[in-house]
Amino acid sequence: MRSIINNYIGGQFRPASSDRTAPLHNPATEEQIGTVRLSNTDDVDAAVAAAKAVWPSFAATPQDERIAMLRRLSSALADSEPELIAAMRAEYGAPIHFTTFSVRHAGSVFLDMARTVADYPWRQSIGRAQVEMRPLGVAAAITPWNSNIGFICAKLAAAVAAGSPIVIKPSELSAIQTEVLAQALHKAGLPAGVLNIVNGDGAVAGAALAAHPDVAKVSFTGSTATGRAILRAGAQTMKRVTLELGGKGAQIILDDADLDRVAGMVLANGFMNSGQACIAGTRILVSRRRQEDFEQKLVAALGAFPVGPATDPDAGIGPMVNRRQWDRVQSYIALGQAEGARVLAGGAGRPEGMERGWFVRPTLFTDVHHDMRIAREEIFGPVLCIIAYEDDAEAIRIANDTTYGLQNYVFGGDEDRNRRVAQQLESGRIAVNGAAHEPMAPFGGFKQSGIGREFGAYGLTAFLEPRVVLS
Ligand code: NAD
Repeated sequence: MRSIINNYIGGQFRPASSDRTAPLHNPATEEQIGTVRLSNTDDVDAAVAAAKAVWPSFAATPQDERIAMLRRLSSALADSEPELIAAMRAEYGAPIHFTTFSVRHAGSVFLDMARTVADYPWRQSIGRAQVEMRPLGVAAAITPWNSNIGFICAKLAAAVAAGSPIVIKPSELSAIQTEVLAQALHKAGLPAGVLNIVNGDGAVAGAALAAHPDVAKVSFTGSTATGRAILRAGAQTMKRVTLELGGKGAQIILDDADLDRVAGMVLANGFMNSGQACIAGTRILVSRRRQEDFEQKLVAALGAFPVGPATDPDAGIGPMVNRRQWDRVQSYIALGQAEGARVLAGGAGRPEGMERGWFVRPTLFTDVHHDMRIAREEIFGPVLCIIAYEDDAEAIRIANDTTYGLQNYVFGGDEDRNRRVAQQLESGRIAVNGAAHEPMAPFGGFKQSGIGREFGAYGLTAFLEPRVVLS
C-alpha cells in the first residue's frame, strides 16, 4: 500500500495539510494499492505563493537558460522511464504499448518546446511599434487521469518555455504516477517555485486553483462540463484559459476506401487507450452500399484487440480506470440496445473468463442513427457506433452534427476527394488514411471541444501576451 501525502511546493516535498484521503485501486485486480491525501485551499495558496515569489526572476530568465531547463526536464523523464511505465500500468492498467508511447511522447514534448523557443518570433516591429511577447504570470494546470503524465508535461513545457511558473493539480485518480513524475522532474533542478504540484480533488483544490486571484492563466484538460466551471471561475479576474475538452470523433470511410486495409486502423482509432481517449474515433461512418462488407471486416479485425491486464504484453485493450467508469460504459451499452441499435460484437458485462477487474467487452453497435444518445455523447470506453450514409455530403453532415469538434478521420482511395472531405469537417484535426501524429502542429478543438491550442508555437503563444511600445 502506497500512502501519498506530499505535495511538491517551492522545490520541496511537503505533506498536504488536510487529513482527507482518497483510495487508489489497481483497475485490473480491483485491489486497493494506496491512498492519496487530498489538499485543501491552504495548500493551493502555498503553491501559488511559491510560484508568485519566483515569477519576476523567472520571467527575466534568458532564453538559453529556459531551453537548457527544457532539455534537463526531458532527460530527467528518460532517466525514470521504467518507474513511470510501471506506475502507469499499476494505476490504470493501460496496455504496455500505450504506456511506453505516453512516457516517451511526454519526454519529447520538452525537446519540441526547446526548438520552438529557439525559433519563436519573440520581438518584431510593426511600423513604430516594438512588439515583445511576454509571459502572462503565474500559470495553473488542471489535468485528467487518462494520459496524466503527457498532459502534465505538455503544460509544464509551455510554461517553462514562456517564463511562467506553474501550479499543477493533476487528477486525484493518477496520484501514484504523479508522485513518480514529481520525483523525476525534481531532478531536473528547476529554480524553486517554478514547478509546483498539488494533489487533490476537483471540488476543493481544483476549484480553488481555477479561481485563485494570483493565477493569470489556466490550462485545463478534461471534460466539457468541468471546462465550463473553469471558465466561470476564471471570469472574475479575466484569466486567460486554454481548454482541451471532450470529443465524439467521426471516422468517414469513403466508398473507394480499401476496406481490408482500413478495418484495423479504424478499430485502433476507436479503441485508443481502451477507448478512454478524447481523440478516439467513436462514430464509424460507412457508405450504405458497403456497410455489410465493412461490418464483416471489422468483426474479423477485432481479434487483433484482445482484452487483458497491463502485465499481458499482447493486450490491446485494458480495463476502465475505475468502477464508476465501468458502470458508465455499461449503462451506455444498455442504452444503445434500448435505443434500437444492434449489437454487432461485444455487449454488456465482462469479457468471458474475466471475473475481476473493470474490463468491458469491446462493443460494436450498428444500425445506429446519429440522433441516438450513444452517437452523441462521449462514452469514454471501447464502444463504437456504425452509422450508414448515402453520399459524401451526408457523411460530412453527420460528422459535423455534434457539439464536439476535436478530431475526425477520413479514409479513401483518392487524395483530392479525401482532402475535399477533410476540409469540410468542423474539427481541430483531421487525420487522412491513418496519417501519423505531427507533434509541433497545433492541437485543440472546434466548438465545445475547447478553446485555444497546445503544442509547438501555438501552444507557446497561449502562455504569452504581446506588449507594444510605441516610440
Ligand atoms: P474531469 O473534467 O472530471 O476532471 C479533469 C480534472 O479537473 C481533474 O483533475 C479534476 O479533479 C478536475 N476538476 C473537476 N471538477 C473541477 C472543478 N469544479 N474545478 C476545477 N477542477 C475540477 O475529467 P476526467 O474524467 O478526469 O477526464 C476525462 C475527460 O477529459 C473526457 O471528457 C475527455 O474527453 C477529456 N479529455 C480531453 C482531452 C483533450 O486534449 N481535449 C484529453 C484527455 C481527456
